[in-house]
Amino acid sequence: KYYEPLQAEFQSANSGGKIPLGLKRKGLRIVVTGGAGFVGSHLVDRLIARGDNVIVVDNFFTGRKENVMHHFKNPSFELIRHDVVEPLLLEVDQIYHLACPASPVHYKHNPVKTIKTNVVGTLNMLGLAKRVGARFLLTSTSEVYGDPLQHPQVETYWGNVNPIGVRSCYDEGKRTAETLAMDYHRGAGVEVRIARIFNTYGPRMCIDDGRVVSNFVAQALRKEPMTVYGDGKQTRSFQFVSDLVEGLMRLMEGEHVGPFNLGNPGEFTMLELAQVVQETIDPNARIEFRPNTEDDPHKRKPDITKAKDLLGWEPKIPLRKGLPMMVSDFRQRIFGDHKEEDT
Ligand code: NAD
Ligand code: UDP
Ligand code: UDP
Repeated sequence: KYYEPLQAEFQSANSGGKIPLGLKRKGLRIVVTGGAGFVGSHLVDRLIARGDNVIVVDNFFTGRKENVMHHFKNPSFELIRHDVVEPLLLEVDQIYHLACPASPVHYKHNPVKTIKTNVVGTLNMLGLAKRVGARFLLTSTSEVYGDPLQHPQVETYWGNVNPIGVRSCYDEGKRTAETLAMDYHRGAGVEVRIARIFNTYGPRMCIDDGRVVSNFVAQALRKEPMTVYGDGKQTRSFQFVSDLVEGLMRLMEGEHVGPFNLGNPGEFTMLELAQVVQETIDPNARIEFRPNTEDDPHKRKPDITKAKDLLGWEPKIPLRKGLPMMVSDFRQRIFGDHKEEDT
């Protein structure tokens, strides 16, 4: 296993032992699949700052080179254009597996591709973890709870998911990915970690990806009406991206497999969210009601007791503090140099 000689190297380094030149390494070697995306690129920033060697694997379906190009001249950073549905050979210590479109508009665009990414892509990355003895973290989702009959959602809840609906490619795909991770853990001894991520927002989100926070912010900035789907009384709990990244890293470094809910328990109806966007951007921003999408979960709020107790983690940034940071990024990208277009 690749991990063991690396550990030996560290021990040797610590004891002042002589290490052949070229074998000396600083930090861990970490793959981030989907690392050119919204969450992945923020994670990469933190890992690079910590002194790790990071390889981003991304097919740029929803990710952008712009999100990581500030690392291009750093020898600790590598970017590989690769689709995780195809096998991949690398030698690494940890795998953060994020590759998968996250916005409903994107994951419904080609549902079969979404399932392949979740199932075959996750299988390949678990096969890689098994071969090299790497630790593997899966970014699953609160969508595994479907339209939940339990509120707030605890990790022990098995969910209420439609297996044949338009969202199934994503939520059933992620459920299968969790199953695969647990089977590689039990059957092949792979060290796995499972995070169930709740709605996350922040700088670098795709501007027109159809998710509610990015939609409302972009619409209010462009002086267009904010599109509230349905009656706007459905709820979500919104987490700022830096809180999520902190949770993912604690989970990876800790001793617990999970699954762990990672989300901010602050719950808002879509009408309340629109109000916070009005307060932050434009008190005169208008609201327009639109028909809701199929199978839209009515409410969602994480119970984060487990993450608090076992990872010592809880989110620090409430919506009213996080939103302005996202707004200044969107303002710059919408009215500034329009860089997001030229990927
Ligand atoms: P994103 O769309 O910004 O990032 C996903 C990245 O994966 C993109 O860079 C995309 O190009 C890449 N990708 C997609 N399919 C791929 C493939 N087949 N091969 C290689 N790369 C591929 O989304 P995000 O919000 O950063 O989400 C990251 C992860 O977190 C996803 O797995 C998502 O399911 C999970 N998650 C996110 C949220 C959220 O609110 N942001 C909530 C729950 C779960
Ligand atoms: N795999 C990969 N990189 C590796 C090792 C495996 O992409 O370094 C892929 C491999 O092609 C296979 C999947 O991961 O499709 C599962 O691999 P595993 O060895 O667990 O299963 P097997 O190949 O025996 O079916
Ligand atoms: N939504 C909305 N207006 C929009 C986009 C989404 O009211 O412009 C609603 C959507 O119906 C859902 C909630 O916001 O109830 C969250 O949707 P999103 O696509 O952001 O995430 P998910 O459904 O995956 O939680």
